[in-house]
Amino acid sequence: MPDGRLSFHIMMNLRNIAIVAHVDHGKTTLVDAMLWQSGTFRENQDVGVRVLDSMDLEREKGITIMAKNTAIIYGDVKINIVDTPGHADFGGEVERTLRMVDGIMLLVDAAEGPLPQTRFVLSKALELGLPPIVVINKIDRQDARASEVLNEVYDLFIDLDATEEQIEFPVIYSVAREGKCTRSPDGELTNLQPLFEMIIEHIPPPSGDPDHPLQILVTNVEPDDYLGPLAIGRVVAGTVRNRQAVTLCRRDGTQTSATVTELFVYKGLGRIAVSSVDPGEIVALAGMSGIGLGESIAGGETPKPLPTLNVDEPTLSMEFSVNDSPFSGKDGQYVTSRHLRERLLKEARHNLAMRVEQTESPDRFMVYGRGELQMAILIEQMRRE
Ligand code: GDP
Repeated sequence: MPDGRLSFHIMMNLRNIAIVAHVDHGKTTLVDAMLWQSGTFRENQDVGVRVLDSMDLEREKGITIMAKNTAIIYGDVKINIVDTPGHADFGGEVERTLRMVDGIMLLVDAAEGPLPQTRFVLSKALELGLPPIVVINKIDRQDARASEVLNEVYDLFIDLDATEEQIEFPVIYSVAREGKCTRSPDGELTNLQPLFEMIIEHIPPPSGDPDHPLQILVTNVEPDDYLGPLAIGRVVAGTVRNRQAVTLCRRDGTQTSATVTELFVYKGLGRIAVSSVDPGEIVALAGMSGIGLGESIAGGETPKPLPTLNVDEPTLSMEFSVNDSPFSGKDGQYVTSRHLRERLLKEARHNLAMRVEQTESPDRFMVYGRGELQMAILIEQMRRE
């Protein structure tokens, strides 16, 4: 800009929101209903009945492991909905996930009330200054006690040192299973329009300077069979274009050049290829091989990396070693120390709350994590593989 001022664009037609909910309080059911009612799905599109859960293990354990993105088109507004891990073991993921959004939706069961597992995610969200909206779900339950539950939510917010504005959150009451909601506890249930309006009204649109050199914070890396690893994150500043030359800025200070080979934004449960994306959006980029979680992608002649994300320190360690029992090698495909090493390193790259170190022995590895559940899930995933 000639006068030295930065241009500052507010993306009025975009909202980025994370859902915070205890397992079984109805997150998947609600997002499902939002997808159907918003008309995000065109006719004849083949979609499963319940759409948010995709990992087998997740379905079985009833726990959300991966942060995933869903985008709902409501009128001329796009709402990116980011799933948060439901358990404090996944501290690294929680941090990253929340960096993608401008507000949260706390979903609470009208009978059970807020439970301890959501406390950690909520505290991180409040710490980051994110404005919340509260949805009290399952008000159709015989044992629903919505007003008491609302008081418990207020107590929780006070306990977590929420700001005054954060405590003045708007509330909606829902029966996600029927795709219905109401703004007052004894009001008449309608479709989800009041919820959509509440999100648009209370969650601020993202903003950023499209003319600033590009900065993307990488919050997730997802494998793709055809495109290689996809870097997923929020465009913090600047505009990103397909085929653009960029710089990968790593945690250790090193920088390498790369080219965006495919550029996607989210729509419904999938991605769509686009040619350019303005700041505020959540994007997936191909061609970014070697970038890690919490690192950044920058553009321009003197690339300016974003601060790398801090991670909670591990609280637990466990030794993983190659099977040396008499039955070793009789069963399974990935059985050598090289396989084990590759698998663990992959996990560490994807999961900021986990660290892997080689020991003196080439067959043994130390894995540092944040909790027993996190380890149990990794072990079970590896067993299945
Ligand atoms: P998630 O673990 O938070 O994703 O929860 P789900 O969406 O899988 O829902 C857990 C269970 O609660 C399922 O059996 C749903 O059918 C049920 N459920 C969801 N919403 C409601 C509701 O509004 N009322 C009642 N009674 N049950 C609901």
